[in-house]
Amino acid sequence: MFAESVAEIARGRRLFDVCLVGSGPAGITLASELDARGLSVLLLEAGGAHVDPASQEMFEAEVVGPLRFDPAVARLRCFGGSSNHWGGFCRPLDAIDFEDKIPGIDSAWPIARSDLDPFLGRAEAILELPAAQPDTAFGERVRHTPMRYSPPVHFAVKYRPLLQRSSRTLVALDACVVGLQERAGHIHALQVCGPDGVPHALRARQVVLCAGGIENSRLLLWANACNGGRIVPEPYALGRYWFEHPHFTLGEAWLEDDSAFAFDRWSIAWVAPMQHVLRDQGMLNVGLRLTRQHRETAREIAVRLGCVAPALGRAALSQLGRRLTCGVLLRASWEQAPQPWNRVVLSADRDRLGVPRAELHWRLGDLERTSARNAALMLATECARRGVGRVRLDDWVLARGAFPADDEIKGNHHMGGTRMSRDARRGVVDANCRVHGCANLFVAGSSVFPSGGASNPTLTIVQLALRLADHLARPARAQALT
Ligand SMILES: Cc1cc2nc3c(=O)[nH]c(=O)nc-3n(C[C@H](O)[C@H](O)[C@H](O)COP(=O)(O)OP(=O)(O)OC[C@H]3O[C@@H](n4cnc5c(N)ncnc54)[C@H](O)[C@@H]3O)c2cc1C
Repeated sequence: MFAESVAEIARGRRLFDVCLVGSGPAGITLASELDARGLSVLLLEAGGAHVDPASQEMFEAEVVGPLRFDPAVARLRCFGGSSNHWGGFCRPLDAIDFEDKIPGIDSAWPIARSDLDPFLGRAEAILELPAAQPDTAFGERVRHTPMRYSPPVHFAVKYRPLLQRSSRTLVALDACVVGLQERAGHIHALQVCGPDGVPHALRARQVVLCAGGIENSRLLLWANACNGGRIVPEPYALGRYWFEHPHFTLGEAWLEDDSAFAFDRWSIAWVAPMQHVLRDQGMLNVGLRLTRQHRETAREIAVRLGCVAPALGRAALSQLGRRLTCGVLLRASWEQAPQPWNRVVLSADRDRLGVPRAELHWRLGDLERTSARNAALMLATECARRGVGRVRLDDWVLARGAFPADDEIKGNHHMGGTRMSRDARRGVVDANCRVHGCANLFVAGSSVFPSGGASNPTLTIVQLALRLADHLARPARAQALT
């Protein structure tokens, strides 16, 4: 059911089994799973029922680095979180994404893909995904990687009736967590403000931060500072190893035979380097997308092709409009190497509830550029070898140029900051998503990813939430053994 107010919950002095901070895909998946297992759940959401500019303003943050974006529009602060405007593109991580594949890049997870596989079927059902199609080879180095699309599921719409009916789960909107109170290695209480800004102490046996890929770091950094560093006693990794999926146009292609690719209903064909190639070449995972263009844009592509290869350009123009031929835009969305200098820190500027705003230090490096270039060259070589098309890459991709600031830049996939590691010096949470050094505090969402592959994150977020729900539902003694 939905609570009247934070003050009303505080008056009840109830001790919940689990308190979830944030109602996006991570928080709502956990709420419905824990509720089904008979646990009492308090789900706190900082925003209201709908998007509201005054609430979004609380997400304002500065991005420090050459590529800027606005964190106040890159996520939503309301019931359902960013699932209210996500695209629904879904793909599980590849097995190699869980490994260290590049010397000097600390990207391994303490779990393997096989640890998340048991949760894939349920996550697919939650996201209402169509049946999976396997990856297939396109030559020896490249594979077709079909994308799956959620309708997209809006978690607030789908789960509101269930949460409304529940007698075990209490949802509080306009309930912003502004602090955590530590006592003897546990979270003793959460400090929660309603719209009047007055803080109330609420209590739960176990607390899970599900506040999103920037706010999880911000909240934990602030709570740790306010508790003399006792919540995260080894704080080096806290806020660090933050990353996105770079999204850029790499060039364009002319396909003489587009039947070599499986274009989906969005006119996109998805390809990527084979997993063993990533390991052999020490490169990041790269998702290439070929988007079929309309006739006029295809003509422009043929003309540009003529500037670098006149005979090819003439041939392309003569084929314009013929079946199976098409011009495509070559874009990529790919892995960023986790680096300690890419990080969330607390700004000197505070929001209206007195919490320091997030300041995001973020830049892309040469490994990102060369990985995208190598993947595109593998595709170009295979197209030419088969005689199905020609690829033209933009200058910045080939010539070590700066990333173009006028492109899409990022995918609104905020990952890292509270990364998972067995070692408290290299990560913030353990393999069960429990904060190292705090017995009853957990983190859910993409902030726990040690690395992010090239797959959109939400399917993995839901898999991890299902796995965490299993863990939280175990008695404390059984939890300690896993
Ligand atoms: C435009 C856009 C398109 C996207 N498209 C895709 C896509 O196609 N595929 C894909 O996989 N992913 C996509 N994403 C990313 C996807 O939306 C996120 O991965 C997903 O929503 C993350 O879920 P979450 O529950 O971890 O966090 P969120 O959805 O961010 O939810 C966190 C919630 O916590 C609340 N909160 C924050 N701080 C506090 C606090 N202090 N107290 C209480 N509550 C708090 C927030 O208000 C929010 O409701 C897209 C994102 C955007 C913005």
